[in-house]
Amino acid sequence: MKIETKCIEAGYTPKNGESRMIPIIQSTTFKYDTSEDMGKLFDLEASGYFYTRLQNPTNDFVAAKICALEGGSAGMLTSSGQAANFYAIFNICNAGDHLVASAAIYGGTFNLINVTMRKMGIDVSWVEPDATDEEIEKAFKPNTKLVFGETISNPSLKVFDIERFANIAHKHGVPLIVDNTFATPINCRPIEFGCDIVTHSTTKYMDGHDATVGGCIIDGGKFDWMAHKDKFPGLTTPDASYHGITYAEKFGIGGAFITKATAQLQRDFGSVPSPMNSYLLNLGLESLALRMKKHCENGLAVAEFLSKHPKVAWVSYPGLKGDKYYELAKKYMPNGTCGVVAFGVKGGRKAAEEFMKHLNLAIIATHVADAHSCVLHPASATHRQLTDEELVACGVLPESIRFSCGIENTDDIIDDIKNALEFVK
Ligand SMILES: *Cc1c(COP(=O)(O)O)cnc(C)c1O
Repeated sequence: MKIETKCIEAGYTPKNGESRMIPIIQSTTFKYDTSEDMGKLFDLEASGYFYTRLQNPTNDFVAAKICALEGGSAGMLTSSGQAANFYAIFNICNAGDHLVASAAIYGGTFNLINVTMRKMGIDVSWVEPDATDEEIEKAFKPNTKLVFGETISNPSLKVFDIERFANIAHKHGVPLIVDNTFATPINCRPIEFGCDIVTHSTTKYMDGHDATVGGCIIDGGKFDWMAHKDKFPGLTTPDASYHGITYAEKFGIGGAFITKATAQLQRDFGSVPSPMNSYLLNLGLESLALRMKKHCENGLAVAEFLSKHPKVAWVSYPGLKGDKYYELAKKYMPNGTCGVVAFGVKGGRKAAEEFMKHLNLAIIATHVADAHSCVLHPASATHRQLTDEELVACGVLPESIRFSCGIENTDDIIDDIKNALEFVK
């Protein structure tokens, strides 16, 4: 099946007389005839459902669809993108371990790794996505267990050179995790470029309609944990909390990672999506290929319009010819990047605020990447506490505007921007 078909058909195939749409199994628990039957499930000897905190059929149908879209071996849903990234990292790293991460990532993930995971005893070295191989290699330590990056970074729109980072990670015997939220598997499938584990905030384009917060983790099924047995004891030695199961032995190269994340992390942390939310996510996935095409068409048209406008100081959009990341974008996302465009208006913070005030169609929101066009001025919202000097230091210029193109008519979006720019003095 081609990717557009997978959006519709993958993950769930009704049998004779069953519902066409994936059923919403809105039930916490599942009934069994005997204690022996249930015991086999608890021992991971048989597959089946017993409690929705661990697994639920609706959630699994949707996870299987995203797994097919990414070309993975196994997948799971989580209740948010934050939970997905936390699980993906914590499924590998223990206290005393270290990871190498791209500095150009979503602020929430940066905070998770830089503050919260440090409190858990997990150390990080940040590298710029544009760093040389040599600089990246220098960040590795004997206790480094993984490398992390974002296909297109939110909000800085830098493209991560997946193949290059995968080669470096593998040279050091560790997997690469890529957050593929902004590109979606419609535009980029990181596993095809050597990435080992893919994560998503499904809250963004996948849901696409401002309806549900969610996340997912997909295992590419190619990383050989047993070949680096000493580095990954959680996967390669018996789990005392699960009757001495060794995940990499029992579930193999394609199943170990997701089985461990489900059996241990969902069991103990419980960041599980509700089946109703997964049903809504599936509706979004069905039109993902169509919507991404329109998001990209609008993103490119807006970027081109802005780049020629006399009141605009700079535009950042990896799909725009001349952008610093254009060549990398062409390699990893030949059919389009995303609908998010960053730009600066001449006149700094005041001009940016004036511009925002006069938008009519695009709403001011801390959200991105959905059907409705929306806009954020980080300096007066998410980064409000910082002075102009501090803003520059953390890579967010005072005049920076993050514009997320929805799927409305292209001319309507451009007219809205054009009109608002007329008020910028
Ligand atoms: C929004 C976002 C997240 C966090 O996802 P939530 O669903 O909000 O928890 C993680 N990574 C990226 C790239 C994001 O844009």
